[in-house]
Amino acid sequence: MSTRPSGVLALGLTLSLVLGGCGGPGSSPAPADAPGRSPAAAPGSSPGAPPGTATAPTDAPALPRVSLDLSGDLQRVLDTRAAAVLAGDRAAFLRGLTRSPGLRVTEGGYFDNLAQLPVSVFSYRLVPSSLVRTGDAYSAVVEVTLQLTPYDVTPVRTIDRFRFVPAGATSYRISSTTDTRWEAAHLGVQQPWDTEPVRVREGLGVLGVFDTADRREAAGIVASVERGVTDVAARVPYSEWGSRAVVYVLSDPRFLAGFDDLPGGDPEALDGVAFTVPGRDDGTIASTRFALSPDLLPAVSARRVDPEVDRLVRHELVHVALAEHDDAAPVWLREGLAEWVSVQALPPDRRDVPDRALAAAADIDEMPSDASFNDDDAAVHYALAWWVCEWLAQTYGPDAPWTVLDTFATRAGDDPRDVVRDLLGLSVDQLARRGAALMASTYAAPTPAPNQVPSTPSSDATDEG
Ligand SMILES: [Zn+2]
Repeated sequence: MSTRPSGVLALGLTLSLVLGGCGGPGSSPAPADAPGRSPAAAPGSSPGAPPGTATAPTDAPALPRVSLDLSGDLQRVLDTRAAAVLAGDRAAFLRGLTRSPGLRVTEGGYFDNLAQLPVSVFSYRLVPSSLVRTGDAYSAVVEVTLQLTPYDVTPVRTIDRFRFVPAGATSYRISSTTDTRWEAAHLGVQQPWDTEPVRVREGLGVLGVFDTADRREAAGIVASVERGVTDVAARVPYSEWGSRAVVYVLSDPRFLAGFDDLPGGDPEALDGVAFTVPGRDDGTIASTRFALSPDLLPAVSARRVDPEVDRLVRHELVHVALAEHDDAAPVWLREGLAEWVSVQALPPDRRDVPDRALAAAADIDEMPSDASFNDDDAAVHYALAWWVCEWLAQTYGPDAPWTVLDTFATRAGDDPRDVVRDLLGLSVDQLARRGAALMASTYAAPTPAPNQVPSTPSSDATDEG
């Protein structure tokens, strides 16, 4: 952690996972392998025909007879596959595939991923309007509905594109679930179990998803999140999150790289990030999860508590616990609350603030905007936001930071400056100056100055987010 290139440690911005963000099923444009030289382009074969209207090719005797209910036939293949997932029946799952060895290996790996997850809902729905015929094969967009219980409050719906080939008069097998060009054009961030072999480890209220982490590292992360869940649940006055969390620690950078709005744009520069996963219906959130950097793994593998990792975990868990409560709040309040809560479990002399934040405190005269919060001065901004919450709590009582958050929620859409002024009788910049002054005076105390407590190598003050 001390080797991180900047103070951009706990950038727990709530990002929107745009799974299936291509406009959704039914709006799928012509896929990459749309018919051209294909015999399916012959009159009467109706590529892309809606369900029940696909007709048997009268002039293509080499092709198998096509059912009048093609989409129904393909849906049955999907239903059998989904049932196999829910039943944990690997053999049945593989029976739905063609004999291609490569396909069976990759799909077997996908099944093994799913088999480790607490999947309570799993289903497919073929999108009939997306059906395209190419030769004797059919491609279609499928909606995938998956719920992790008890972690997701609603099922998560994503999309994929499958290819089917005949396996009899009215039966089909899946010949491909991968269409790289289509996926690049249509899929946003994919979950790690969709793209790589994962190892899943569950704890009390914790679902950990790992790739390269060994057993001890995974156990260390899960234990840290268990401790964090207990701590954060006792301090955050919202219960909808159910004191449960899903955490990813992945060496494969593809998951975080899939976000196009990561702070700083560099997934490897982040130690932690929280993100939301949309539910089945527009506008619903199924889950707020978080990801941690694989660089943290060595620190938790030695069967000991790493205070810095625990603090980071608590920070991210605050974002999980706040979920949609902070949707209308400015970044300084979201991050300030996460930082403020995350240090409560530490004795005051261990609540380190970056030296550069203390050095800058006297010159702080305004609150950082949402747009500038994660810029090069992020370390200063995180510390300031935390101490603004401290100032609120010390001035108005320990519930005050939550009252401010709730006020933003009830005045969504209002100018944040007006919200602060109406509630506190201060400008938001005055509020920033109060927080900065409290931070400076607290850490200037004669003995012991918290920032002068000897640091362990892994608690480099510049790491504080
Ligand atoms: Zn954060």
